[in-house]
Amino acid sequence: MSGLIYLDHNATTPVAPEVLDAMLPWFSQTFGNAGSAHALGHLSDGAVVHAREQVAALLNASPAEIVFTGSATEAINQAIRGALEAQPQKRHVVTTAVEHPAVQAVLQHEAAKGVEVTVLGVDGEGRLDLAAVEAALRPDTVLLSVMAANNESGVLFPVAELGRIAKAKGVRFHVDATQAIGKIPVDVVAWDADLLNLSAHKFQGPKGVGALFIRRGVRIKPFLLGGGQERGRRGGTENVPGLVGLGAAAERAARLLPEMDRVRLLRDHLEAGLQAIPEVRILGEGAPRLPNTTLAAFAGVEGEALLLKLNQQGICVSTGSACSTGHREPSHVLRAMGIPEAYAKGTLRLSLGLSTTEAEIDRALAVIPPLVTELRSLSPFAR
Ligand code: PLP
Repeated sequence: MSGLIYLDHNATTPVAPEVLDAMLPWFSQTFGNAGSAHALGHLSDGAVVHAREQVAALLNASPAEIVFTGSATEAINQAIRGALEAQPQKRHVVTTAVEHPAVQAVLQHEAAKGVEVTVLGVDGEGRLDLAAVEAALRPDTVLLSVMAANNESGVLFPVAELGRIAKAKGVRFHVDATQAIGKIPVDVVAWDADLLNLSAHKFQGPKGVGALFIRRGVRIKPFLLGGGQERGRRGGTENVPGLVGLGAAAERAARLLPEMDRVRLLRDHLEAGLQAIPEVRILGEGAPRLPNTTLAAFAGVEGEALLLKLNQQGICVSTGSACSTGHREPSHVLRAMGIPEAYAKGTLRLSLGLSTTEAEIDRALAVIPPLVTELRSLSPFAR
């Protein structure tokens, strides 16, 4: 869609041309079932093996530790439910108040079945208190489940420290790295992760393809039983084009990671411009954050109204997580951060990508301030 300015890369990203090129032959030329014993099957199996190596290399893992899934959501379900089922004598999980709905929904489901879930809060900048995490882990704790990077605020949790704490207490450590891949280095060894999930469409791969890292020796029960694919850990005929795309996107993400420095400069330029607007707050500004994400809050403005106005001008943004768009209540992340109502109602998430240009940021900065002024003049919340 030429002419559109896309500042919603945390919702999803375009498939990179080199990723699409890698995928195309696997739809209708070399289309074999990776489980078939003939030449076409062998070709597909080889492609899946290669994709597994590419994903493992991105994470500093071994290929045997990678299980392919249909999404990050599926990988999260598998990680949490599988870890709980593998240690039925332990019935306690620790997580945070700002996790993605996928993690929250699985844990709510488990809580209804009797699992005790400790949900740790964050401070006004979205930061976690490490001492509180340490104090929350008990002998009957199965799992510590946290995100590496928040999808709304971009705030980074200190995953390496959290991994050390969990390991010292003998607790499994699950990291939702969906928003981290391609934006910051991700290393399952440095993070002491036992389980880590990702999703290809967040780093210019195809939608509907994800992966779960399961550390060697970590037992978790599979829940998608079927034809023995993924060494019995996830049944279902392999999505060969999708996995080829995931592998190519993983390799590309690792190669282009240094380019995030340029994205960070553009993001900083955007924030400097936004901060010239009266009564604006950049949420999470005091915490380590992803280089591409700005969560800006404009007092006295409806975020939804601002989103619609920007949409009319060809600028695509979000008011929070993509999933919460359409709901007018401040998101669970904003509530957990204790953002005052006047600001929480007026939040805009702008998430940049590798293709974002300075001209696009300048255009956004030319459009947003007058729209904020206009909406404030109309808003019953305006002071
Ligand atoms: N976890 C986080 C932090 C996310 O941002 C998302 C998607 O927005 C997910 C999990 C779910 O990813 P998927 O839609 O690929 O299942």
